[in-house]
Amino acid sequence: MFEQLGDRLQGTLKKLRGQARLTEENISDAMREVRIALLEADVSLPVVKSFIGKVKAKAIGTDVSKSLNPGQMVIKIVQDELVELMGAANDALNLAQTPPAVILVAGLQGAGKTTTVGKLANLLKHREGKRVMVVSADVYRPAAILQLKTLAESIDVTYHPSSADQNPVDIVNGAKLAAKNAVMDVLIVDTAGRLHVDQQLMQEIKAVHAAANPVETLFVVDSMTGQDAVVSAKAFDEALPLTGVILTKTDGDARGGAALSIREVTGKPIKFLGIGEKIDGIEAFHPDRIASRILG
Ligand code: GDP
Repeated sequence: MFEQLGDRLQGTLKKLRGQARLTEENISDAMREVRIALLEADVSLPVVKSFIGKVKAKAIGTDVSKSLNPGQMVIKIVQDELVELMGAANDALNLAQTPPAVILVAGLQGAGKTTTVGKLANLLKHREGKRVMVVSADVYRPAAILQLKTLAESIDVTYHPSSADQNPVDIVNGAKLAAKNAVMDVLIVDTAGRLHVDQQLMQEIKAVHAAANPVETLFVVDSMTGQDAVVSAKAFDEALPLTGVILTKTDGDARGGAALSIREVTGKPIKFLGIGEKIDGIEAFHPDRIASRILG
C-alpha cells in the first residue's frame, strides 16, 4: 500500500530536503504537489484540504525558514500530520469486560468479513492465548456459514453452529449463552453483508448489535474501493456505534486513500490491516509506522 503516494511525496519533499533557505513560495509550491499526490492516492478532498491547511499553518507558525534545515523541518511536519491524520497511536482491541467479550464484525459482501473473523480468531487464540468462539449470523448465504465452519476447524477455534432458517438475533443470543457456558473469553460474530448499504441490512444489523451488546463493533472494508470505502464506513457508523475499522486487501491497493481518509471522516480508528488472503494476513495498524513507510 502507498507505493504511488510514497514515490510522489518522497520526490516532492526531496527537493526541499537540501535547501538552506525556504520561502513561503517554496513551501506553497511543495504543498501544491503534496495536494496532487494525495488526490491521486484517492484521499477525499475535504481531508486533503484540511491536511494541507494544517501543514502550511505549522510551517509558517514555526517559521521553518529560520531553522537550521528548513527542508527537513517541513518533512517532519508532513510526517507528524500524517500520523495525526491516521489517529496517532494504535488502538488495540478492547476486550476488558466480563467474558465473553463480544466482537461484532460488519461490512459489505465481499469485503473480507468472514476471512477477517478467521484471522482475528486465530490471532486471539494462538497469539494471545484466548478461548475463542465464532458464529455466523449470515442467514442469507449458507455458503458463508459453511466458510466460517471450515475456517474455524482449520485453526482449531470453537465454532457455534447456525443455519439459514434461523433468525440472526436468535443465533446471537444462542451463541452468547453457549460462549458463557463454555467459559469463552471472546465470541466473534460474523454478520450478513449486502452489495450496497440498504435500509433492510441496517435494520437487521442494528437488531443484531443490540442482542450482541458487543465491546467491539468492527467495520470491515475493502481498501481497494477507495472513496467508496469511506462512504460506506460513514453509513455504517451512522447506523451503529462502530469502535473501529479493519481495512482489507491493502496488499493489492497501491494508492491507500481509504487508509488516510477513514479516521478523519468517521472519527473511528483503523485497528487492523488485511495484508493477504492467508490466515496470518493481518497486522495491527500503526499510524507512525505507516507514515514512515510513506515518507521512506
Ligand atoms: P465476505 O463476503 O465479506 O465475508 O468476504 P470473504 O471473507 O469471503 O472474502 C472475499 C474475498 O476477499 C476472498 O477471496 C478472500 O480471500 C479475499 N480477502 C479477504 N481479505 C483479504 C486481504 O487482506 N487480502 C487479499 N488479497 N484478499 C483478501
